[in-house]
Amino acid sequence: MNEVEIQGVKTLLETPKNIVIIPHKNPDGDAIGSTLALWHYLKKGQHNAVIIAPNDYPNFLKWMPGEDEIVKFDSNRQHAQMLLDAANVIFTLDFNDLGRIGEMEPVVAATEATFVMIDHHQQPSDYATYMYSDTSMSSTCEMVYNFISFLGDENSITDEMATCMYTGIMTDTGSFRFKATTSTTHRIIANLMDKGADNASIHNAIYDTNSLSRLQLLGCALKNLVVLEKYNTVYITISKEELIRYDFKKGDTEGFVNYGLSLKGIKFAAIFIENLQEPYVKMSLRSKGDFSVNEFARAHFNGGGHTNAAGGRSENSMEVTVQKFTEILTEYKSALS
Ligand code: 5GP
Ligand code: MN
Repeated sequence: MNEVEIQGVKTLLETPKNIVIIPHKNPDGDAIGSTLALWHYLKKGQHNAVIIAPNDYPNFLKWMPGEDEIVKFDSNRQHAQMLLDAANVIFTLDFNDLGRIGEMEPVVAATEATFVMIDHHQQPSDYATYMYSDTSMSSTCEMVYNFISFLGDENSITDEMATCMYTGIMTDTGSFRFKATTSTTHRIIANLMDKGADNASIHNAIYDTNSLSRLQLLGCALKNLVVLEKYNTVYITISKEELIRYDFKKGDTEGFVNYGLSLKGIKFAAIFIENLQEPYVKMSLRSKGDFSVNEFARAHFNGGGHTNAAGGRSENSMEVTVQKFTEILTEYKSALS
């Protein structure tokens, strides 16, 4: 954000506003962490603020301070519509294209509100008056920390805000190991600990709440893993039947794709998961080094994300999706060897 934009947002927030904060559909730790941190901050500033998530999120996020006040659009449409109609300002966090909020898109696009985007994904769309977009950032939570600092309010960060931001930075950086984790990220993390974020209990709340069936689903996924040595690539499939057999709950497959990437020498890992309700296959893509899964997902699977972490979908069956995937890989042989 440049000085002019910071001044613009400062002026915008000088008087109490009706504010709606929106994370992307199927929100993750960074999306929920960043919206909650900003929500706590704006409420302290006397604004009438509310978070509307497009849909529900995994149980391992349902302990975060303020989480129980998040409105879910898909199960509470009328209330959400009323809040959106009354909004003067809409913050969109952890996504940069209104297509990422699913069925909320037409309702949000029709409001008269002033949009503020805070996001770290590539190729932002042009819908926001104030855009804080930086693809070098580890997480949207790190950007919310910066945003609060830009507004001169770093000292007003509470333990609740610190907990939420710590959580999102931790989850989006794979516990501080991905390349986007900088020394500045660590300095911010240190400040958040000073302000009351309890690292051990946050890590425990996110990662050590496995059910037996989730561990067994992981076992099944690992059994299904296929190595394509020629391309230094692995893929995992999970069918609908397997999801049902292991009592799948939202979020259960989070992180599975990283096991593929942990194999020695592997540069590209994919996981294909059949959707339980609708006939499509959702995919998560991860890479190491320069191979851009963002470009791969955009070019072939109607998706996007970051250089080393992206997602997409296929309207084909699992069998056809895997076949298409392996055929496409031949185009990338030199990039992957
Ligand atoms: P995940 O694989 O964990 O669902 O997502 C990895 C990254 O890719 C996230 O930053 C997420 O926002 C992005 N992403 C996942 N699915 C999609 C998609 O369908 N479209 C786009 N544009 N980005 C996606
Ligand atoms: Mn993020």
